[in-house]
Amino acid sequence: MRLRHIRGAEEKIAQSPYVIQDPEGERGHWNQRFGNAHPIEIEVGMGKGRFIMELAKRYPDRNFIGIERYSSVLLRGLEKREQLELSNIWFLCVDAKDLAEIFEAGEISKIYLNFSDPWPKDRHAKRRLTSPEFMGIYRQILIEGGIVEFKTDNRELFQYSLESIPVSGWEIASQTYDLHHSPLAEGNVMTEYEAKFAAEGKPICKLVAQKPKGMQAE
Ligand code: SAM
Repeated sequence: MRLRHIRGAEEKIAQSPYVIQDPEGERGHWNQRFGNAHPIEIEVGMGKGRFIMELAKRYPDRNFIGIERYSSVLLRGLEKREQLELSNIWFLCVDAKDLAEIFEAGEISKIYLNFSDPWPKDRHAKRRLTSPEFMGIYRQILIEGGIVEFKTDNRELFQYSLESIPVSGWEIASQTYDLHHSPLAEGNVMTEYEAKFAAEGKPICKLVAQKPKGMQAE
């Protein structure tokens, strides 16, 4: 994503009532923050947040946390958030590599990765959000049998993910190379990137990976 710095973005985020400023302080108590015992789902790399805000609207009996590391990008999402009446969503301006410091083991039921940066060079493979390094972090914070859902237009990243995710014991529960013309399309919520690619006629790939029952958090 080409990033245009927005002046004052950090300050605005620091003052936003929709952003948790000290997420590590909430570790193990996220359900208290939401004021209910509903399951918590997160989107890692939410961009401007169209997807996760739509989920929060559709599913009031679930809790959502949108995670975006760049303040200039998150700020765009917060502008949208201000126009909505929602009580089941929070936002964090953090890097996904810190998720295990923010969430306790088993605190999260589902993780969404949408159109994650591809990092095509081999030497950058660890930065891919579906790399074994990141899957290890997700494994720590997910409940038993928890889910990672991943959508992308990038075939190379998708192929890499299909091959690398099962190596560490995850099960690929479903997959498609053309989401919008597959049974998985039912109930699909489009992201900003997805809408753009779909308008260009690009097929969208999706996989659903499940943390097998009995898999220990490390
Ligand atoms: N998910 C949105 C969509 O589908 O429209 C945005 C996709 S955009 C290509 C990827 C986003 O992930 C960017 O906003 C980027 O800043 C964010 N991102 C990438 N790596 C991240 C990380 N390690 N932690 C948090 N956010 C990250």
